[in-house]
Amino acid sequence: MNFDFIILGGGAAGLSLAYRMANDDFFSNKKIALIEKGEKNKNDRTWCFWEKDEGLFESIIDKRWDNLHFYSKTLDKVLDIYPYQYKMISGLSFYNYTLPKVKEANNIIYVKGSVESIQEVHQGVEVKTTAGTYSAPIVFKSFPSVNEIDKKEHLYVDQHFKGYMIALEEDRFDPNEATFMDFRIDQKGDARFFYVLPQTARKALVEVAIFSNNILKQEEYDSILQDYINTFLGIEQYSIDEEEFGVIPMTTYPFMEANTDKVFHIGTGGGVVKPSSGYAFKRIQEHSDQIITCLKEGKSLKESYKGLNGRFLLYDKVMLHAMLHNGVSGEEIFTKLFKKKKASSIFKFLNQKTHFLEELSIFTAPPMWPFTKSFFTLISK
Ligand SMILES: Cc1cc2nc3c(=O)[nH]c(=O)nc-3n(C[C@H](O)[C@H](O)[C@H](O)COP(=O)(O)OP(=O)(O)OC[C@H]3O[C@@H](n4cnc5c(N)ncnc54)[C@H](O)[C@@H]3O)c2cc1C
Repeated sequence: MNFDFIILGGGAAGLSLAYRMANDDFFSNKKIALIEKGEKNKNDRTWCFWEKDEGLFESIIDKRWDNLHFYSKTLDKVLDIYPYQYKMISGLSFYNYTLPKVKEANNIIYVKGSVESIQEVHQGVEVKTTAGTYSAPIVFKSFPSVNEIDKKEHLYVDQHFKGYMIALEEDRFDPNEATFMDFRIDQKGDARFFYVLPQTARKALVEVAIFSNNILKQEEYDSILQDYINTFLGIEQYSIDEEEFGVIPMTTYPFMEANTDKVFHIGTGGGVVKPSSGYAFKRIQEHSDQIITCLKEGKSLKESYKGLNGRFLLYDKVMLHAMLHNGVSGEEIFTKLFKKKKASSIFKFLNQKTHFLEELSIFTAPPMWPFTKSFFTLISK
């Protein structure tokens, strides 16, 4: 079957793009296929991000906070995030909202199948799946084209998460305040922090994030979670309503070099995950908007990747390099940043919306020498 566009993978990136194509008249006479192997009926992850204005998925924000708390061994601070709000969308809310709209759209065919091969042919791209063969001149692929990244050649660290949605029988949480990062736990030579996202006074997502290339056994995450809930939250009695686990790459590996004139990588596979923080949801939304603009304005799709390159990529490289090769701990970086700078300025910087002078001011906060060393190592390569 022939299409104008094929989207491979219907997770955050694939559905964000398909949802826009389903709702934009420009695409009403186009034929689009979205191919996804999974059911997308489980709450497999929770996305948080900070935003000033209303976003496209405002109506499905599950929870939002005006107050965030940062903890490390030397800092206990309520962060002033105004004019931002910290917002949360659960995976299931997102799938339940976008999937029916995509499936009902007259211009989109939803294919449940696993992609087995992608081949560029003269007229476009041929995608073989367990459900049949599909072709289009342009394909968007949301899972990586590399199986294994050479971790010696490229800056790379996995960020792994495990979280419990815990329920209590008495009020314990302040639903108006989330813990953004809590580094007080044993770092074990990695960067390890918790975040706590209270949904109500009796219910919260408690999740550990670890930056390291050693994925732990599930029992080890469980023991870290139990210990934090007992020791730092002071909670002994709780039930676990849901669990989530995942691994994402924090890397400056140039995923987008796998793009051709016909196959464009999006989401994690397109290098959209912010290398220094692992945040991706908001960047996926911005990249989807840019793709739509390029298509509508007849510009090359390569233009949509501009925001992922440039000086902010260099900053991400310096930060990752300093953490991985020059002995700066994640705890030290974030403690110094949040001690010296306004959280809203840091959020603006991480959203890549700052001017150079604002960036210079941010650079004076973390330990200067390892960052300077990393900077010169990277530019001399
Ligand atoms: C537990 C967890 C928590 C996270 N929390 C945050 C957060 O708070 N904030 C934030 O900004 N980011 C967060 N992220 C990072 C990022 O936003 C997510 O990983 C996001 O889902 C990435 O979107 P994606 O489309 O690239 O990948 P996915 O959402 O994983 O989608 C890829 C899709 O491709 C499908 N697929 C794969 N192979 C095939 C195949 N061969 N054929 C057909 N389909 C296929 C998969 O089934 C999947 O549906 C988190 C990630 C995880 C894992």
